[in-house]
Amino acid sequence: MFELPFSLLLIIFIYLFVLGSCCASFLFVVVHRAAIPQSIPFYKGRSHCDSCGTELTTSDLIPIFSWLFHKGRCRHCGCSISVWYPISELIGGIAFVLSFVAYPFQFTKIAICLLTAICLLLIALYDSLTMEIPDRYTLYLCIPALLSIWAFPHISLPQRLLGLVCISLPMLLINLLIGDAFGGGDVQLMAVCGFLLGWKLTLVGFFFGLIFASIQGIFLLVRGKAKIGQGAHMPFGPALCTGCYLSLLFGTTILRFYLSFFPS
Ligand SMILES: [Zn+2]
Repeated sequence: MFELPFSLLLIIFIYLFVLGSCCASFLFVVVHRAAIPQSIPFYKGRSHCDSCGTELTTSDLIPIFSWLFHKGRCRHCGCSISVWYPISELIGGIAFVLSFVAYPFQFTKIAICLLTAICLLLIALYDSLTMEIPDRYTLYLCIPALLSIWAFPHISLPQRLLGLVCISLPMLLINLLIGDAFGGGDVQLMAVCGFLLGWKLTLVGFFFGLIFASIQGIFLLVRGKAKIGQGAHMPFGPALCTGCYLSLLFGTTILRFYLSFFPS
């Protein structure tokens, strides 16, 4: 990939970044409206400020830059706009660029990665807002999971079926024994991701998910938003989605690097 002229690479990266950040921006609106019961559906009405109701113009809708340019405030009423808007747009852009880095010019694989990124972003954003993962969003993820049989043929069906249960089943058993340890949505999410990734990459993805969740937990403790022993809950979906997506892109390389320490 890096034998290509730098100017061409830059155009591809910018194109994917803009596409990813625009998708994330749209998904944020979809999730925001879906999470608020009395809100209008995402396909009705233009984007508007939640505080003053003013319809947003094109200059308010440029991913990341609009937020930075207006210093995180509505330019009509001055109310603050969540920092999660530009952060999710940034994550969307990076997720799209990384798909090309992982599978340069392998367009079928890139297409599946982008579709997976969109579904995982939808799930992660909704879970962050509501601490729930709707069944329909997990169903959407089944589409790239099924298409991956054709795009990633090196992951065999037995590997996928083992992936489906290798994390989700222990999570389900822990839930039955301890009760309410994981959300039902997290279990379903790991089942579908397991089928998409196969058991090896599912283990890698879950491992990274645990690391991200630990960082998230420490962050909440430090900011005083949770206390040890209070039985406080936090959304696990965003960490799992990030871990599984990284595993889809780089899991095989990570696994090969890890196994190189154990020569057979
Ligand atoms: Zn406003």
